[in-house]
Amino acid sequence: MANSAYDMSADRASRLIRRYLEEDLQVEPDRASDQQFYKATAMAAKQLLAEKYRRFSAQAGSQGKKQVSYLSMEFLLGRSLKNSLYNLGVLEPFRQALEGMGVNLENLYEQEPDAGLGNGGLGRLAACYLDALATQELPATGYCILYEYGIFQQKIIDGWQTEQPDLWLPGGEVWLTPRPDESVAVRFGGRIEEFWEEGYHHVVHKDYTTVTAIPYDMYVSGYHSGGVSLLRLWQAKRPGVDMESFNRGDYIGAFGQSSLGEAISKILYPNDSHTEGKLLRLRQQYFLVAASVRDIVKRHMDIYGSLENFAEKNAIHINDTHPTLAIPELMRILLDECGYGWDQAWDVVKNTFAYTNHTVLAEALERWNSDLFQSLLPRIHQIILEINRRLCAELYEQYHLDSPAVAQMAILGDHELRMANLCVAACHSVNGVSGLHSEIIRRDLFRDFAAIQPEKFCNVTNGIASRRWLGQANPLLTDLITDCIGGGFLKDFSRLAEFGRFRDDAQVLERLAEIKRQNKLRLAEYLKRKTGEELNPDSIFDVQVKRLHEYKRQQMNALEILAQYQSLKDDPDQDFTPRTYLFGAKAAPGYYLAKQIIKLLCTLARVIDSDPQVRDKMRVCYLEDYNVTLSEILMPACEISEQISLAGKEASGTGNMKLMLGGAVTLGTLDGANVEIAQAVGRDNILIFGMTAQEVEARKAAGYHPEEIYQQNPIVRRALDALRDGIGGETFPDLYRSLRYDDPYMVLADFDAYRAARRESERLYENRPLFNRMSLINIAASGVFCADRAVGEYAEHIWDLR
Ligand SMILES: *Cc1c(COP(=O)(O)O)cnc(C)c1O
Repeated sequence: MANSAYDMSADRASRLIRRYLEEDLQVEPDRASDQQFYKATAMAAKQLLAEKYRRFSAQAGSQGKKQVSYLSMEFLLGRSLKNSLYNLGVLEPFRQALEGMGVNLENLYEQEPDAGLGNGGLGRLAACYLDALATQELPATGYCILYEYGIFQQKIIDGWQTEQPDLWLPGGEVWLTPRPDESVAVRFGGRIEEFWEEGYHHVVHKDYTTVTAIPYDMYVSGYHSGGVSLLRLWQAKRPGVDMESFNRGDYIGAFGQSSLGEAISKILYPNDSHTEGKLLRLRQQYFLVAASVRDIVKRHMDIYGSLENFAEKNAIHINDTHPTLAIPELMRILLDECGYGWDQAWDVVKNTFAYTNHTVLAEALERWNSDLFQSLLPRIHQIILEINRRLCAELYEQYHLDSPAVAQMAILGDHELRMANLCVAACHSVNGVSGLHSEIIRRDLFRDFAAIQPEKFCNVTNGIASRRWLGQANPLLTDLITDCIGGGFLKDFSRLAEFGRFRDDAQVLERLAEIKRQNKLRLAEYLKRKTGEELNPDSIFDVQVKRLHEYKRQQMNALEILAQYQSLKDDPDQDFTPRTYLFGAKAAPGYYLAKQIIKLLCTLARVIDSDPQVRDKMRVCYLEDYNVTLSEILMPACEISEQISLAGKEASGTGNMKLMLGGAVTLGTLDGANVEIAQAVGRDNILIFGMTAQEVEARKAAGYHPEEIYQQNPIVRRALDALRDGIGGETFPDLYRSLRYDDPYMVLADFDAYRAARRESERLYENRPLFNRMSLINIAASGVFCADRAVGEYAEHIWDLR
């Protein structure tokens, strides 16, 4: 489809904006505030998106195209205004139109709150994929909950994280289109009665309570394409009157089931890589999938009038196990409402669903207490038990497995329902998110399943919305690359490789260095404005931004900073390249050790800043409230990208890809996608240190004793002792004990190698032409990590769209 439908002139943009100002917001343009201009501009953009979506979906429908439904409890969208105008190709006419009215478009961006409907990488991935699906013109709908409160806003007070509710709707609502006529009723609780009548098995659900799911639609446009993705967000509302109770004569009860409903879409659980076993979370999960599956079935029926070809025309994707219940929910509809036999229904389900695993951490694998589950979802519980019964029978009879193996693979075990096993048993495809992670899934997490059904398992390495972090967030670098190789790479990121030809072009390298400096200054000015803090743009910008988690090892970074501080105190005249250590991370509110790590970093920042002997050499800066918008300022300004998780623990990482695309050099372990980054740039253009995943396993098997390292390594001992004895008047006894006696993520084992890698990075940085060359090679090699590539692999190998 042509993009020419948006032959958008500044005049037309101006008329659109004026109309929304005057008719919807009831304000004259010369009296409107930036906030009102933001809303009017967003409404104008939404109109263009909606028109484009209608054309795209009508065409896809009439051609009988297979649809992708991407189910995810999280979509971490960030802001939409710039992305929409940019992807629609109307940024310049809108800029001019606003200029004509005396308004600066950049100021309007600042009016928009982040749509923070996610915790971190998993939710951001879902958002990146909507962008890429639209760009590839693949018809797709994302499904999620319309959380009234997104991920909390972080305030650091006296070095401690505090959380504030994220009220995003006042500014974010403008992107949503309510579709109350497409609401869906979702049932909870009650009991099941079964009987046979006229040769049919009847299942009747009684005494349930109903929650209404109201859809709110958002659009994500493709770039230079006719595609638009739909994101359908469900809001929970209690139904006006419960007709079941009403008809039974329970007049009061019919009006009485109020607050239960609305709580469901109130707030996003703020845990990353950790399960929440609460009933409300289970309610949220079933609410999402019941509403979404009903919606998918309804849309299919509208086009085809039959479910016979459902699997042929629908691919439903399960983003981590959170939406697993879509599997038994589709079974329920086919069995109870459509009269399908079990085998027939199971065939449809198997051919429809695919599952992406996001973590191998034990604490993140979802399990539900069977009784709790049964009381909330009695029919779904029955269906899962039947899936389990048939699975176990098949494993014994067809695959001749022994009881221990079957017990491992069963969906029900220890009185718990294991969501990952249900996904693997039911889906035709199971993928990890990097080569290494997919290997670990096959060899370890799901080894018994992989032994009998190896063809089910595959890999799709994650990708990012590269245009957001390059084209939109890094215009200077975009211009340089465009001057070198033309602008085609923005549509086809594999062409970014052509930029590699300029690796020895002194002029290009110098421009690249100047751009990095400009981006560092932009970050410094932003920070100065926000907090008054001053950064030294001549120091190395060393960045670790991601959720705070022990496995990501921010505490190792902190310990190395502490050791370096101690070393500079001993010998202030040693060679040392000034370095700014930038951190950004939210901790789960209930994760105590993570909060202590934030406190440690903030304490180091204060102690070093108040030490005139060291403050010109080292500076620690903890950036408050790391989110997508902050990442867009940060990524282009970074020089060293810290990706230092314990090998085998980070499934992929995508922050590593955003930083590489901005020209940062990765300092990291061979974990997740770092392995593939190393392959793409070559070992000379990355700083790899520490144990490999295999070495980690071997070391654990041999018995790991951090106490021995503490005793033998004076640098480690001195830094750890400072945690115990006090730094700047603060002590960190829990962190100290955890590292010395337990060290679950082997910080001490990797510490020396990490310290050496940091020193090596200084040596490289001192040779600026060499460092600039490494930077350019990283940018040129980052094309493969574009979400367009990843989505293409899903389309071809998993969803069978082409
Ligand atoms: C990309 C991104 C992440 C993921 O970062 P990792 O380093 O891959 O864990 C988390 N949060 C935000 C806001 C992001 O943009």
